[in-house]
Amino acid sequence: MFSKVLIEKDILDHPNAQKILSNLKNQEPIIIDDFQNYWGKVKKPYLQKRENLNLFIAKKKGQLIKQTPDAYGSGKAPHFYFIHAYNCIYECEYCFLQGYFNTPDMVFFVNHEDIIKEMEEITKIHPEAWFHAGEFSDSLALNHITDELDLYWDFFEKHPQAKLELRTKSVNIKNVLKLRPLENTLVTFSLSPQNISKEFDLKTPSTKARINALSKLSDSGFQLGIHLDPMIYSSSFKDEYEELINNLLENVKKEQIQYVSLGVVRYTKDVYKEVRNNYPDSNLHAGPYIKSFDEKIRYSKPTRNWMFNTVKDLLLSSGIKEEKIYLCME
Ligand code: SF4
Repeated sequence: MFSKVLIEKDILDHPNAQKILSNLKNQEPIIIDDFQNYWGKVKKPYLQKRENLNLFIAKKKGQLIKQTPDAYGSGKAPHFYFIHAYNCIYECEYCFLQGYFNTPDMVFFVNHEDIIKEMEEITKIHPEAWFHAGEFSDSLALNHITDELDLYWDFFEKHPQAKLELRTKSVNIKNVLKLRPLENTLVTFSLSPQNISKEFDLKTPSTKARINALSKLSDSGFQLGIHLDPMIYSSSFKDEYEELINNLLENVKKEQIQYVSLGVVRYTKDVYKEVRNNYPDSNLHAGPYIKSFDEKIRYSKPTRNWMFNTVKDLLLSSGIKEEKIYLCME
């Protein structure tokens, strides 16, 4: 999977680093000093990830947990995201990571104990805080290599008011299924209609496979969330979402879906430039887009409202309660 594996010398003996190296089996690592002296030092074109993707194993220094932007999550409690990895093996054409870092090379951070210490401090002030994984990387896609979830489970079992969200498009749920379901740990999936996912979510598991993974988690008693995000306009938008919601609810127990977020495709100026460079023939460019209230590039307000209302009505008529539905980043 990785052309090269590079590891910081100071963490060679860290148990989480050892676990990653042993899960990578035959890959001999290159020993380096601080990963920041190499990772992204020289611009590496995003699409080189297809042929030449390197992995850095490192210790995250500085801030490990950050407050999310407004309108990121549901409810009134404060929301935070924690940084356990950079970059992703998938290749969604709209992904913000392509304009965010100077390189697509991945980083796994091994000092989860420091992240958990920061969570401990935050929960002293905000006992009901939400912590989200997966802001800079899919939270489960490579979990068979990083295998860190049990550390977080211990923390959230002891802090039942705090909440953990693992956000994914992966079906790599084997390690999750080994854990005990907790009321405050949620596995959440980003879903799109199958034809949209096939066209734009390159290298990800199909929508059908993601619903199948949700079904297994639902049957095992895990709390779930759904992100219908990003929604991309098509002429059969309503029919596609009706089919998606029907398929989902035929396979997943409604009571275990704690929330459904709705968001439309959106880009910063830099990300949009990268998307145009990387995928010049993509139907994503059909738009039409405008520059909106927060300088991001989106569909016009009437189009967004129509998309939100259409999907919200479909959810309500399928029996999802209104208080479980929220708009993301609007
Ligand atoms: S799964 Fe998420 S992080 Fe990975 S490429 Fe797709 S949008 Fe980006």
